[in-house]
Amino acid sequence: MFVYADNAATTSVSKTALNAMMPYLTEQYGNPSSLYAFGQKAKEGLEAARKTVAECINAEPREIYFTSGGSEADNQAIVSAAKAGARKGKRHLISTAFEHHAVLHTLKKLEKEGFEVTLLDVHEDGVVRLEDLEAAIREDTALVTIMFANNEIGTIQPVKEIGALCREKGIPFHTDAVQAAGHLPIDVKDMNIDMLSMSGHKFHAPKGVGVLYAKRNMPLFNIIEGGAQERGKRAGTENMAGIVALAAALKESCDNMEANNARIIPMRDKLFAELGKIPHSKINGSLEHHVPGTVNMCFEGIEGESLLLMLDMKGICASSGSACTSGSLDPSHVLLSIGLPHEVAHGSLRLSIGEYNTMEEIDHIIATVPQVVEYLRNMSPVWDELEKGLRPHLI
Ligand SMILES: *Cc1c(COP(=O)(O)O)cnc(C)c1O
Repeated sequence: MFVYADNAATTSVSKTALNAMMPYLTEQYGNPSSLYAFGQKAKEGLEAARKTVAECINAEPREIYFTSGGSEADNQAIVSAAKAGARKGKRHLISTAFEHHAVLHTLKKLEKEGFEVTLLDVHEDGVVRLEDLEAAIREDTALVTIMFANNEIGTIQPVKEIGALCREKGIPFHTDAVQAAGHLPIDVKDMNIDMLSMSGHKFHAPKGVGVLYAKRNMPLFNIIEGGAQERGKRAGTENMAGIVALAAALKESCDNMEANNARIIPMRDKLFAELGKIPHSKINGSLEHHVPGTVNMCFEGIEGESLLLMLDMKGICASSGSACTSGSLDPSHVLLSIGLPHEVAHGSLRLSIGEYNTMEEIDHIIATVPQVVEYLRNMSPVWDELEKGLRPHLI
């Protein structure tokens, strides 16, 4: 059995998205910047896609900019707000410790350029506290950027309240909504969001296309210089096929959101319930504020990488928090940010379920993971010491 349980990493392209993009890969290949009718036909497709995306998040079409993905949208939003802030002498940026690297590494770069960055604690439950944000805000704060939902542990942040606080203080608020778009309702007006990033391939559009929403009066600076596409804010001939597919996939996901989540949540909850029975395991992140599809757990005494390799042999695609950087295995910054000790963070597993998964697949995972964990523990010197009481159990 083959089970794809890594939908937070990427998703398959839906039939709807594929059908929408096909004409742009074949007969409808005009350049939307060309003045003749054949080019203008493409331009119509582009603007229809922009309108569709805007409607899905209650924005205006002119507030939607197409990018190469979530990373580019994050970069442009953050760098723009930082530059605009610096012009007014504001060089302080607020974010959280468990953002995606597209955000964290952009902030690091700005730090080297003289900006000051405050990363808020996300506490043990993986949820930012408003009072922490309020305490961090300063006269010279140029931007608050806090993700809508975390990609590893699936916790949802109080975006609307964060937005309201930022608005009250006159500070631009950006949210990386890559894990939320198409999966959770988003209303940029009601939620007081000034800028928002999304990525097509996390909701069944192809890879390499994303969206930056920027409220009308938000200053945007180019990351990519060149032609006047995207109202001069993002140069480069538009990825027409990707853009129309993104719009079709987002609309499909938003139209079917309730039905999809009604299918996904019972699968996720079964995973939590059954895998939670494994001794010395731990579920990561608040279950109260949680995206529908993501399950993140730690199993003591094993390495996440070994677990993934064994699951791969059993046909299960999953992910671990650990990122392999420069040959050394560092535990996930997300799991460390919620206070897990290194040893525990190393034994992590992320399963992310989508609407195309079935309960049979979930049952296969439930039958397989406990066996593999037991097998690895039997081989683990660390587990041996834990069992003999030579070192204390941490979970
Ligand atoms: C996947 C992801 C990104 C990056 O998006 P790309 O389109 O792959 O560049 C950014 N933020 C979060 C939270 C993500 O999950």
